[in-house]
Amino acid sequence: MSFAASRLAFVKPSASAWVSQAAKEARARGEDVIDLGLGEPDFDTPDHIKHAAHQAALAGETKYPPTNGTLTMRQAVTDKLQRENDLTYAPDEVIVSNGAKQVLFNAFMATLEPGDEVLLCAPYFGQYKDIVLILGGTPVTIECPAEEGFRLTPDRLAAAITPKTRWLLLNQPSNPSGAVYSDAEIAALGAVLEQHDRILILSDEIYEHILFDNRVFRSFAALCPTLKDRTLTVNGVSKAYAMTGWRIGYGAGPKELVAAMTKVQSQISSGACSIAQAAAAAALNGPQDEVRRFCAAFEARRDLVVERIRDIPGLTLDPPGGAFYGLIGCEGLIGATTPDDATLTSDADVTAFFLSAAGVAAVPGSAYELSPFFRISTAASEDVLNTALNRIADAVANLKGVRP
Ligand code: PLP
Repeated sequence: MSFAASRLAFVKPSASAWVSQAAKEARARGEDVIDLGLGEPDFDTPDHIKHAAHQAALAGETKYPPTNGTLTMRQAVTDKLQRENDLTYAPDEVIVSNGAKQVLFNAFMATLEPGDEVLLCAPYFGQYKDIVLILGGTPVTIECPAEEGFRLTPDRLAAAITPKTRWLLLNQPSNPSGAVYSDAEIAALGAVLEQHDRILILSDEIYEHILFDNRVFRSFAALCPTLKDRTLTVNGVSKAYAMTGWRIGYGAGPKELVAAMTKVQSQISSGACSIAQAAAAAALNGPQDEVRRFCAAFEARRDLVVERIRDIPGLTLDPPGGAFYGLIGCEGLIGATTPDDATLTSDADVTAFFLSAAGVAAVPGSAYELSPFFRISTAASEDVLNTALNRIADAVANLKGVRP
């Protein structure tokens, strides 16, 4: 008997969760596996944030919160957007949800008609596509190759737009590539979007604070003010404050869109945990030095990984501008043969080989709709990263037919 509805037929489980599960199973069999699959900071949530949660619980903030978020948290979001992003929003233009992921889900459920197209810039966070599919939309992949810095160009955007295009989803710094746009590049994309007033823009800025080489982050809606009334700015506390488990994300956008999203949220979850919202408000309102410390650690690890990959034949990695991943090109390994005489024909073969021969779990580029690549997370200590890269280098040295 099948329990799953037909709308789930196209939906794949999260690739990074699948890879981490495979790593756990290998560990349970006694194998020594380093898991570089999952996308969550290896730091702990700063103490002042945990204290705020404790205080909220003791103060009796234990009842149903308002569906769109507590006023304290929505005010913390509007203050943050004003202070850091030069964006003015009122509290009723903000929704707080169970992670940025639920913000995306609410937005697409509130707006997509069957067959509406959502433009996704590959390589992209795989769940974008699955959420669109679950909700009856049509994901349209725009390839953004490594030679173009994995960034969307105005020409590629213009070519992908059809009368059915409903959303463009932009994510920078990008998971998985770490790509970051210049202000001029965003403005050029904005100029194309100006000509298509049916298109809404979802700017996923969740890696905003993990930005390297002294770059300064600028929000899409601040760079394209004439598009602000059809932009949903999405962010959250998972990545910047090491709060993945607290499940708080938020969206800011036009009041009518946020009201429709709130209607969806009222049916799904009645809102996000009141105590986690108190913690998230403390994160946004409080000292930001831990965020800077996390970012500096991620930048040092980025440098380490780039340097190490340069010395491994067949692999390539340009320095990512932000986020905590390395999307490593493995074109030079495709066609190579393993010590067991198997030929590596895809990036999925490469990651399977690394798991079995090197004990390193990584996610194949096919999960992000761009091959041949694999993604490693740098949310691991420099020691762990060095060990993993030593093992990858040894495994590659055992292949025959690697192209440098
Ligand atoms: N957007 C991107 C690009 C992500 O990488 C992730 C998590 O990996 C999310 C959104 C979801 O984050 P949250 O934990 O807030 O649901």
